[in-house]
Amino acid sequence: MARFLRRSIIAAAMAVLGVAACTYNEELGRSQLLFTGPDSMAQAAASSWEQLKTQRTISNDPRYVSRLNRVAPRLIRAAGEDPSKWEYLVFEDPSLNAFALPGGRIGIHTGIMDIMKNDAQLAAVVGHEIAHVKYRHSAERYSQNVLASVGLGAASIAVGANCEGTAAERRACEQRSGALIQALGLGAIYGAILPYSRKHELEADTGGVRYMARAGYDPCEAIRFWKQMQAASAGQARPPEFASTHPASETRIRNLTEIVRKQGRTCS
Ligand SMILES: [Zn+2]
Repeated sequence: MARFLRRSIIAAAMAVLGVAACTYNEELGRSQLLFTGPDSMAQAAASSWEQLKTQRTISNDPRYVSRLNRVAPRLIRAAGEDPSKWEYLVFEDPSLNAFALPGGRIGIHTGIMDIMKNDAQLAAVVGHEIAHVKYRHSAERYSQNVLASVGLGAASIAVGANCEGTAAERRACEQRSGALIQALGLGAIYGAILPYSRKHELEADTGGVRYMARAGYDPCEAIRFWKQMQAASAGQARPPEFASTHPASETRIRNLTEIVRKQGRTCS
């Protein structure tokens, strides 16, 4: 490719992407391709969160709220964060759902809380959501979408030029970018770009169970909870959003069982 053209493409891509970089997440144990800093994601999330709070009904029912107020700070602390900097609310909504936004905001629906049998089961869901935030899954997902929209040619050049860190980290980042670009090249919106990939979900489960155990909750309750979710959503025509982009329940339960086993426990 002519040098001029190559340069203009890089310039165009960089203008769209802002700063592109691979960041190593220590807790996660892998490099992430992130085009956005934590602050800009948190700012965008802050306005979405404020909007959610005005558009949706926040529950004041102590059956839900006191449980969340009891469980969430313990989990947040176990994840190495300051609870006073996080926000967590129960929304009146019968669907089996929960979500987290960058910057430390967690929403739990009354519907999913209705199938929980104890605090530890809520801890499993809250831990999972905290892990999504800590692992910056939204930023990663966003970066993948940006990458897809910028166009493969420009993106592949921009990405290759912007992997940073040690030689090994750069190699891992480049490999990952390469794999991503290959997936996009196949037209694969499936898997690579869906809201929270299956990989993200399994990572969030793993992190969540870790936080749960650290906070003193029985991690076996995570497995029990997912079995209850499976049963509760079985009759529904469409799987709940919380589960639809998520790995098949069997995969998830197998993954959780394995993590809990590594913690030296066996669940009945
Ligand atoms: Zn999730």
